Amino acid sequence: MTTYQIMRKAIPDADDQLCEFIVWERTAYPLRKLTTRGLYKTARRWRRTKEKGLRLCELCDRIAILGDSLCERCKVIAWS
Ligand SMILES: [Zn+2]
Repeated sequence: MTTYQIMRKAIPDADDQLCEFIVWERTAYPLRKLTTRGLYKTARRWRRTKEKGLRLCELCDRIAILGDSLCERCKVIAWS
């Protein structure tokens, strides 16, 4: 099973661009090896967060502040 096929198990309508985004922006790849379970969980988390009308922080995996791209913790660090 390819990387994209694994992600499409979690996000059936994911196009190649979304799959690329998740691999490069939502995982630690290439610093950490991709695993089937980790990739599926990451894609599922991204989909579930989006379904709730929320988004994930650009710097970590927490929920971002509404209307912002960072979570509360990363925003405090970014401004200090
Ligand atoms: Zn954050």
